[in-house]
Amino acid sequence: MKLIFLKKGVLITLVALVLAGVAFGICAGALASASSKGDRVIVIDAGHGGLDAGVLGTETNVKESEVNLAIAKLLKGYFSEAGFEVVMTRKDSGGLYGSTVRGFKMRDMKKRREIIEESGADMVISIHQNVCPLKSKRGGQIYYDKSSESGKALAESIKKALDELSDGEKLPNGEKSTKSGRTNAVLTGDYFMLKCTESPSVIVECGFLSNPDDEKLLCSEEFRQQLAYSIFKGAVSYFG
Ligand SMILES: [Zn+2]
Repeated sequence: MKLIFLKKGVLITLVALVLAGVAFGICAGALASASSKGDRVIVIDAGHGGLDAGVLGTETNVKESEVNLAIAKLLKGYFSEAGFEVVMTRKDSGGLYGSTVRGFKMRDMKKRREIIEESGADMVISIHQNVCPLKSKRGGQIYYDKSSESGKALAESIKKALDELSDGEKLPNGEKSTKSGRTNAVLTGDYFMLKCTESPSVIVECGFLSNPDDEKLLCSEEFRQQLAYSIFKGAVSYFG
């Protein structure tokens, strides 16, 4: 009996040592990843919210603010998983303007800038959806401020990743298209959200809610994941 107890004791000690080693290994791995990427703060901005729904889908009436938030959350997941520090300007369906309605839009925008400044953002990615009177118009548009070289480089990096997705995206019905008809463009824009920090900032207009095919994709969870992953991939490539 004594021998069995001793053996059990040794066994328990061994198991404890192995477990401690595994835990240390996991912690060390997480720390190593955090020290390389955790210093980098990514601000993800889901456009609109609250009283401001943004644009609406022509077929389903889906609110741009909802689509933006869903994609922003997925994007946050990818960055967090990779060890980046992520700050979301908007975490739920509400706007950032407080309880007073009057002058809400400007207060909402100022709050977003405040969050970006306080976070010490190394990168700002603002998520939006587009509309166009030309119903056939599809694809992504990535905006940067014309005075920002880093913004331009980030926009081009994200475009490259979105192009790869457009060339063979999986459609909600399970089919895989060889060429989706979605084309992506890098553009300059004079927007408030691009001027909140010196760090690279882009507005990603993910697609056109005025196009039935884009709208269908933007409403599908699978495409939202693919889209968010492509934006993440492009952003990470920017950092090299
Ligand atoms: Zn918008």
